[in-house]
Amino acid sequence: MYIGNHLSSSKGFENMGKEALKLNANTFAFFTRSPRGGSAKAINEGDAMKLRNLMKENNFGKLVAHAPYTMNVCAAKEDIRSFSRNVLKEDLERMEYLPGNYYNFHPGSHVGQGVEKAILLIADAINDSLKQSHSTTVLLETMAGKGSEVGRNFEELREILDLIRLPEKVGICFDTCHVWDGGYDIVCNLDGVLEEFDKIIGIEKLKAVHLNDSMNARGSHKDRHQKIGEGEIGLDALMAVVTHPLLSDKPFILETPNDNEGYAREIEMIRGFV
Ligand code: FE
Ligand code: FE
Ligand code: ZN
Repeated sequence: MYIGNHLSSSKGFENMGKEALKLNANTFAFFTRSPRGGSAKAINEGDAMKLRNLMKENNFGKLVAHAPYTMNVCAAKEDIRSFSRNVLKEDLERMEYLPGNYYNFHPGSHVGQGVEKAILLIADAINDSLKQSHSTTVLLETMAGKGSEVGRNFEELREILDLIRLPEKVGICFDTCHVWDGGYDIVCNLDGVLEEFDKIIGIEKLKAVHLNDSMNARGSHKDRHQKIGEGEIGLDALMAVVTHPLLSDKPFILETPNDNEGYAREIEMIRGFV
């Protein structure tokens, strides 16, 4: 299986790979720039090459890069929107130094403009940034539906995907905490939820999993992650996710409230289970 956690990119690409190995991980996530946004550091090509070699030698799965949280391509304010569109464009160019991986982003918050307008803006931002020559697959993350978040159900994600000009280059990242907080019962009816995903979006679009427990009840729309087995989703349900035949070959990224020691323990526990 491919499992890892979110690593800090401040020490460079190869060092993230080394850190992942120490945690017994074989994939990881990282912010493409500071999670608070701002301009990105220049890419060190040699460092990117070293990470590519390390990943090949150690049979890593695809990485799941994460856009900064401040990115909102469907913001109501024009300056935030254009900043966000630039981030998306730039990040997709930068991802080509690590070809063939995933770039995950939050569809955004419509902040009062309405979901339908937001969906058009999100699709337009992707269509404007994603090129045929790109080797990255862009992932839209399933959201908890906090505030005016778009992507709080499978239907909204499907509507975005329907407007994409290069659909083979766009998929979904399934966040267990968000899906649960969004109201989907992955505890009692994981098969049913995946069936619904398949019916509405198509299961082949599900490319990566954010593996998180949740501090809150199903349908709470809160988005507070919890350690694996210590939240409302629980260990059994999360282990059913990692072993599910439709999911088990995906990269699993832990975004649980842990330090590295905690992540190493979670990775060990999950590997032991599998
Ligand atoms: Fe996320
Ligand atoms: Fe997530
Ligand atoms: Zn979250």
